[in-house]
Amino acid sequence: MTEQINDFQKDALHYLHMLEGDGVELLGKTAVSTKSTVEEPGDVIDFKSTVMTCKKCPELAMCRNSVVFGDGNMKADLVFVGEAPGAEEDRQGLPFVGKAGQLLTKMIEAIQMRRQDVYICNVIKCRPPNNRTPLPDEIGNCLPYLEKQIKTIQPRIVCALGAVAARALLNTTRSISSMRGHNFEYQGAKLIVTYHPAYLLRNPADKKKAWEDLKRVRSELQS
Ligand code: SF4
Repeated sequence: MTEQINDFQKDALHYLHMLEGDGVELLGKTAVSTKSTVEEPGDVIDFKSTVMTCKKCPELAMCRNSVVFGDGNMKADLVFVGEAPGAEEDRQGLPFVGKAGQLLTKMIEAIQMRRQDVYICNVIKCRPPNNRTPLPDEIGNCLPYLEKQIKTIQPRIVCALGAVAARALLNTTRSISSMRGHNFEYQGAKLIVTYHPAYLLRNPADKKKAWEDLKRVRSELQS
């Protein structure tokens, strides 16, 4: 058992070492497929069709190329929730596929999981123009979709990536630093708050704090 933990620590430190550099392109060579390994049931497909044609936010509906519903394992124990699609996500129609997505993939692998083991989505499903922060009305319009996604998947852990996601899920205005390190509850799942990968790309010094959060995610999954 001790030997396994040491191996895990060794792997994790290896990832952390890579994450601390700016070699995200290099890391991208090992990117894992984002395709779900579990078939989606009919009611989920109907729900998805509703979301994919949604125009509740007129500005976003007019500017988007894609509605980025979410992607991954519909029976996942772990769901990551980000803020909103970016340019690459809007182009491909998939969440976290740009540089921040490559970093998220490595963060998932650092806790010895594969990207296809988890589910990944955002608080809002359409890209805000120029990547501006989603407006409260937009979050209010889209949040019921996220709530239904979580209710359908019934994960054990929800990991909020960044302040916008954490505040939306917890209906609070607290700072991310005051939410990190605490366990919250969301629809029966434990909710753990960490930094958004895009923030970590801009602030690499905080990757060590994110690693502490990921270790808590891993520990909760093993408990
Ligand atoms: S962000 Fe959500 S609520 Fe707004 S138009 Fe897109 S899918 Fe609809």
